[in-house]
Amino acid sequence: MLPWKPCQIGDTVSLVQTPSLILDLDVFDRNLDRLMHCAKQMRVRPHAKSHKCPEIARRQIAKGAVGVCCQKLSEAVIFAQAGITDILLTNQVVGIGKLARLAQLAQTIQLGVLVDDQQQLADLAAAMAGQAKSMDVYIEIEVGGQRCGVDPESALELAKQIVSTPGCRFAGLHCYQGRAQHLRQANQRQTAITQAAQIARQAVDLITKAGIDVPCVTGAGTGTFWLERDSGVYTEIQPGSYVFMDRDYADNLAAADDVRFEHALFIQTTVMSASHDGFVVVDAGLKSMSVDSGMPRVDGQPNLSYLKASDEHGVIDVIEGPRPQLGDVLRLIPGHCDPTVNLYDELVVVRGDKVVDIWSIAARGASL
Ligand code: PLP
Ligand code: MN
Repeated sequence: MLPWKPCQIGDTVSLVQTPSLILDLDVFDRNLDRLMHCAKQMRVRPHAKSHKCPEIARRQIAKGAVGVCCQKLSEAVIFAQAGITDILLTNQVVGIGKLARLAQLAQTIQLGVLVDDQQQLADLAAAMAGQAKSMDVYIEIEVGGQRCGVDPESALELAKQIVSTPGCRFAGLHCYQGRAQHLRQANQRQTAITQAAQIARQAVDLITKAGIDVPCVTGAGTGTFWLERDSGVYTEIQPGSYVFMDRDYADNLAAADDVRFEHALFIQTTVMSASHDGFVVVDAGLKSMSVDSGMPRVDGQPNLSYLKASDEHGVIDVIEGPRPQLGDVLRLIPGHCDPTVNLYDELVVVRGDKVVDIWSIAARGASL
């Protein structure tokens, strides 16, 4: 934790010490409402990896989400401790130490986990032996993401194994197409999700024909969720970044007309050096944001271009017009929200020009 807080509730936003992570509460609320509106008949289980913030999870659930997804076991433990009672761990958990911790967590909340391997399922079953409450087990299907997952035939074998495993309940199929989310062109995303849905459909049909009910088909992110929604095979969506809307997603999503999210997340930064004509230096660099999806955008100032990030410095090019002055406060829209949020202890929550709350990013850094 920081040796002191960057601000107090009630402070004027421009006086928040920098670099700080700012959440615009009104925009954030609109993003939550918009997702629920766009989700239509789908179950919504937002991904908490994007925000790592229990207060945000509580607000998503209050708007109608069935629970959240977590990506890491330690993340899930922190959300459970904060009172979230329904979590899907959208990952495989490997190793006896972690499996024991996972089995323990399943005794306290409704918990789901993924498998894509018979040995892994056997290890999970061993960890669940003797536990009172069972684990929801989802089979991860490889739907084109080229990450984890199995083909529909192997999924059928796994489903048969799950239904005969004590301590494990077959909860459905995890069909997340990660590579599709950030494809630049809408038609590329459409093609990728059409293929994903076909594979998901094959798996559902094979398993159902074998007499095993498939209670849920879950997947989808901010870049494509309305395609999964309309596929006729998915029953649950898991978008995460929509709460914040980073620069990379905004560049892509001239999507379906009703799917419009707004930037709610900013890095507030200060001009710390203005000794050159053509550029200024700000106090937010690589340790204040992730640039894996490209540089941040300077909010509301198209004449300024964030050129390069070093550890603690950012160079901002002045394309035209007056150069910012020493001490000026700027707002950056991060290129990629998830790894950026993971760098901060708290979100400074603002409405207009006032700090109205400070929310703990309690699962920040939880990668076990
Ligand atoms: N579901 C899974 C399994 C993910 O890995 C992710 C993100 O990587 C998401 C959902 C959420 O995606 P997004 O933040 O793009 O909405
Ligand atoms: Mn991401």
